[in-house]
Amino acid sequence: MPAVQGISRDVLLALYPVTATKIYMNLGEPDAIDRYLDLPFDGIGLMRIEFIVSEWIRYHPLYLIKIGNPTLFIDKLAEGIAKVASAIYPRPVVVRFSDFKTNEYKKLIGGDEFEPFERNPMIGWRGVSRYISKEYEPAFRLEVRAIRKVREEMGLKNVWVMFPFVRTTWELEKAIKIMEDEGLRKSSDFKVWIMAEVPSVVVLADQFAKIVDGFSVGSNDLAQLTLGVDRDSELLARMGYYDERDPAVLQSIKRLIKIAHKYNKTVSICGQAPSVYPEVVEYLVRAGIDSISVNPDAVINVRRQVASIEQKIMLEKLNKK
Ligand code: PEP
Ligand code: MG
Repeated sequence: MPAVQGISRDVLLALYPVTATKIYMNLGEPDAIDRYLDLPFDGIGLMRIEFIVSEWIRYHPLYLIKIGNPTLFIDKLAEGIAKVASAIYPRPVVVRFSDFKTNEYKKLIGGDEFEPFERNPMIGWRGVSRYISKEYEPAFRLEVRAIRKVREEMGLKNVWVMFPFVRTTWELEKAIKIMEDEGLRKSSDFKVWIMAEVPSVVVLADQFAKIVDGFSVGSNDLAQLTLGVDRDSELLARMGYYDERDPAVLQSIKRLIKIAHKYNKTVSICGQAPSVYPEVVEYLVRAGIDSISVNPDAVINVRRQVASIEQKIMLEKLNKK
């Protein structure tokens, strides 16, 4: 379908610079993809599924299992993912498994029964620690079955997965085993990424790199945990403590890139930082990041900026010789 009267989408996209660093887009609401199709992105670097769960499904997955209707969860989740994956095929869609915190899961219909009270949900039962727990594992399996349905039954092989809030290698290995048990195995067209949000992933990057295909930096959480600053604290934000540009955060990312590349693994970023700070974009490109995933409204500017930085780096290298 023509994007702009008389101009095909391919021609329109060709008007933007080609970059060696891939420019991805973050997305949560599946239907929003229709509005963004003309943007020059190379894939979806973070598809958050929390929107589908809270707005389309609305029920807690464990409640649906209890009332004997788990297929509602699988089908709706698969529908949302497939909507995006088919719209941008064959570009990849990196689907992040659910990353609600306990207080957010509680708000889903029937959620009260299954969610404990946590004093500090931000560093509580979230991410992989949920998937491998005996309480939540059946619900994690529904997420995996939805992905499998999209890839195998609907044939959309451009769907990859990403594990959020990974803390240790042992929990990750357990979660990957559950995924494999459901028939989803890492392969050349099925990449498995983890988010680098907890500093332990950076510290033990060598070990994690042996397990996964790639990393995506969740700079929102990485900044919070590296700096010891509650990302929701307005007081600390006002005082300037919550800053993804802090050298401790940036140097962590640089270290991760260096180690990941040693193992031929890729590094992306899907936190807010590059969407809002041009200096972070420059830092990341100079550090050799493989892709940058930004909010829709930042895609065009970040692509142009990355192209110009890549050119600058090339000229600097030439002038040095
Ligand atoms: C992040 O932590 O940077 C991230 C992208 O995840 P979320 O903001 O959903 O926690
Ligand atoms: Mg996060």
